[in-house]
Amino acid sequence: MTNYDYDLFVIGAGSGGVRASRMAAGYGARVAVAEERYLGGTCVNVGCVPKKLLVCASGFADHYREASGFGWTAAESAFDWGQLIANKNREIERLNGIYRGLLDGAGVELFEGRARLLDPHTVEIESGGTGRHGVTADQILVAVGSWPEMPAIPGIEHAISSNEAFYLERLPERFAVVGGGYIGVEFAGIFAGLGCDVTLIYRGPLFLRGFDEEIRTHLAEEMRSRGIELRFECQVESIEEVTAGHSDRLRLHLDDGAAVECGEVLYATGRKPLVADLGLEACGVALGELGEILVDEFSRCNVPNIWAIGDVTDRLNLTPVAIHEAMCLARTLFAGEPTPVDHETVATAVFSQPPLAAVGLTEEEARERYDEIEVHRSRFRPLKLTLTDNQERTLIKLIVDRTSDRVLGAHMLGADAPEIIQGLAVAVKMGATKKDFDAAMAIHPTSAEEFVTLR
Ligand code: NDP
Repeated sequence: MTNYDYDLFVIGAGSGGVRASRMAAGYGARVAVAEERYLGGTCVNVGCVPKKLLVCASGFADHYREASGFGWTAAESAFDWGQLIANKNREIERLNGIYRGLLDGAGVELFEGRARLLDPHTVEIESGGTGRHGVTADQILVAVGSWPEMPAIPGIEHAISSNEAFYLERLPERFAVVGGGYIGVEFAGIFAGLGCDVTLIYRGPLFLRGFDEEIRTHLAEEMRSRGIELRFECQVESIEEVTAGHSDRLRLHLDDGAAVECGEVLYATGRKPLVADLGLEACGVALGELGEILVDEFSRCNVPNIWAIGDVTDRLNLTPVAIHEAMCLARTLFAGEPTPVDHETVATAVFSQPPLAAVGLTEEEARERYDEIEVHRSRFRPLKLTLTDNQERTLIKLIVDRTSDRVLGAHMLGADAPEIIQGLAVAVKMGATKKDFDAAMAIHPTSAEEFVTLR
């Protein structure tokens, strides 16, 4: 028991902050959390959850197209964007309520307002309802996340970020996306599936830098065959508003001299830690080049009672990683078990169409780190598509260290890839060998069985 108002004060009730609060309270700590914007954070409100709902919505385009191959005559398949967004918003509100209930049930006090550090043990909370007041805490956790970042080019005020994409009043006929990361690729697929003409503009030679090159190349082919225009190795120099109110109200001027007309342009050019005006500088908290809070393996920053987790630390910016960091932190602080964060062999998925998922090393990374590797691959037409005119091919790859036979990486592009790779992630994380994979009996007929029948 300390003389402070709380043992732990958490700034930010996103995936990481909420998990840390609940677990710390579960260990007996007196915990408060402040949230100024979204209960549940980016993931629940303007990230993973609504994104996946939109991916599901756009997937119906394929289902309707493929239905006739199975003898179905598709009924009326008109799409209503307003209905989808209203339903999505209702679900998000329900989840906000669940988060509130979880905090309440765990005995965590919730302040709905903006929190700022006055010194390493004092937090000032400002809210419309109750004005300003200060509280003290023994330990402080900063879990405020990140915010979309856009380059300062002329006309950038006409662009939207993913935040706004979730609340567009209507679907544009033509939609442009700038950026070749997770968000750009996912939204290109969503809007194309919902019937927009989509152009994705990326500055490098091939999008999704960091993923396996063969998988990325295959995704680019599949996206092009779905009618998405991919313009690589070019940049937008300026955005011009041509005619307000017109369906193609924007013209993007590219550095290769071309122009792209569209109704909306989504910038998905990365996110930046949301550290402004938190009082961190006054407390002496060290920040990196992007503004990220620098932390050690226990998520502790240079001020000993201040900790940070999630996107604000810019380590691996994924929801499950923030949750893992939160659990390690709660154990370290309140269970007497110093627990370093484990960022090795993290599975991840891009909810593109078709989806891509991976765990472990890419072929390129493995070639750099190991003397000799084996690459096993299979490219096939999924059984379901054989009765349709959809020519999509699934690609799977296993990367194996020839010396130890250990599976270093598993990669998949194709239907259900995230679900399949999640299962394989257990084996890869445990250090399974190719022989272990081969010893597992196949489930037939599935796409997943290809992973255990690679010869
Ligand atoms: P990413 O960092 O994934 O990608 C940013 C993209 O924008 C890259 O292609 C980058 O190019 C490009 N870019 C950066 N700056 C500029 C610029 N000035 N001009 C033109 N292009 C630029 O960011 P996202 O915004 O896509 O996503 C943010 C974070 O959210 C990611 O880190 C990801 O971890 C997380 N996320 C995870 C999801 C998931 O798990 N499924 C889904 C959505 C988001 P280059 O490659 O050349 O640097």
